[in-house]
Amino acid sequence: MSEVFDRLKAYLEKGNALSRAQILFEWDTATLAPKLADENTAQVVGILSDMYLNAYVNEDVKQCLKELEKEEEFGKLSFVEQVEVEELRKLVGRLEKIPPREYREYSELKAKSISIWTEARKQGDFAKFAPVLAKIIEFKKKFASYRMNPEKHSCLYDAVLEEYEPGFTVEKLDEFFGLVRRELAPFVKEVVPKAECVDKSYNAKFYEVGKQKKFNHMLAEYVGFDFEKGVMTESAHPFTTSLHNKDVRITNHYYEHNLESAIFSVIHEAGHGIYEMQVDDAFTGTLAGEGTSMAMHEAQSRFFENIIGRSKAFWKPLYGKLVSVFPEQLGEVGLEQFISAINKPTPGPIRTEADELTYPLHVLIRYEVEKLIFNQGVSVEELPNIWNEKYEEYLGVVPKNAAEGVLQDVHWSGGDFGYFPSYALGSAVAAQIYCQMKQSLPFEECLEEGRLEEIREYLKEHVHRFGKSKDTNEILKRMMGEEFNPNYYVKYLKEKYTELYL
Ligand code: ZN
Repeated sequence: MSEVFDRLKAYLEKGNALSRAQILFEWDTATLAPKLADENTAQVVGILSDMYLNAYVNEDVKQCLKELEKEEEFGKLSFVEQVEVEELRKLVGRLEKIPPREYREYSELKAKSISIWTEARKQGDFAKFAPVLAKIIEFKKKFASYRMNPEKHSCLYDAVLEEYEPGFTVEKLDEFFGLVRRELAPFVKEVVPKAECVDKSYNAKFYEVGKQKKFNHMLAEYVGFDFEKGVMTESAHPFTTSLHNKDVRITNHYYEHNLESAIFSVIHEAGHGIYEMQVDDAFTGTLAGEGTSMAMHEAQSRFFENIIGRSKAFWKPLYGKLVSVFPEQLGEVGLEQFISAINKPTPGPIRTEADELTYPLHVLIRYEVEKLIFNQGVSVEELPNIWNEKYEEYLGVVPKNAAEGVLQDVHWSGGDFGYFPSYALGSAVAAQIYCQMKQSLPFEECLEEGRLEEIREYLKEHVHRFGKSKDTNEILKRMMGEEFNPNYYVKYLKEKYTELYL
């Protein structure tokens, strides 16, 4: 027992409650809230974020943290308390550098910007979103400059990246994306023509949304999303949010003429959700009670979406069920064709619709664009053109309008710059985990027999249960004696696509 921690606990609980209230408003704004609610919601969120900041950044908390620097005092804490103190130290370190007024203005701006982006995207009108995007970038640049530490950061974008994946700087990411470009870009060019003949015209047929919803709900449950601890609804862009490990929320988006979109989105988001649900109960309601980093989160979602969800073994027991829901559309499409089609590499303009092989090139483009914004001072007005040029260069496609170009992702409207690299890093971490898992589990057999609980248990034991108490590299090291190594990713993709199409 530590009296200092008891004093701190009141602030931790208050901060946690206020953060959950904000998460709920964000969730509500993206899903159910009426359009005209925005102004008022933004005001409420502004006040909540002010209170949140005050709960963590104050003299008493600083005093407690200082006292807990003493080994003797820190030693009195339980393991979970120690982890929470370390997390709080990092959080306060980040928050105290931002002037409260700016933090509040930024929170209010974010509360409004998602719906402005939604409208702009619907109309394909970048000019509608540009002014608010410029303001968000201005805030992000300011905040990053407050965090700049010459010992850790060699450029402004390094300070932006740190928020999501500490330790992965521009230098390291240049190396990683260099490998992606060197090894995968030419491989894509080799595979794409070979896969061209695969017929996936079935995907654009008419699929009644009501039936899709029912099937996808079943699918979420099948992969292990627990509806006792979670809910699923709809939004413009599928996402996952979590209040704690017993309240996890995912969304999906349905298209009448695209069957695969909702299927792979639901498996992806369920992967995020399962990670949150499997965090150890000891961390529930604490600062450590969530996934350790964005890359590890994307590793889980993309593990489910691609390594599980796009494999033949997974669909063996399931495909017949899908055909029985849509017999007219899929009656002539066999399992083999379906597997070739759901993996078919097709360079296109939309990241979320991309196949597993061309996907990292979409992320590479966003990484380069963000680097230009933060390190080269490229203006918002220039973004649509830069975006289109890069798509032509790397993927050989030019977006028809801003909706399928620079406006396609929700991230920037929520201030999430520096997030995109986590998607590619996550895919690479997933491949590394897969390599290790195959050595201790009959992976294919589990999928063919629908025994996904064995795979979930493995992930729980080696990754999920730790919450934020271990970082990405610590988890990998503990699991396989090796830190992050992107060569597993290149090897995995090359093997998979050689077997499928070459
Ligand atoms: Zn994701």
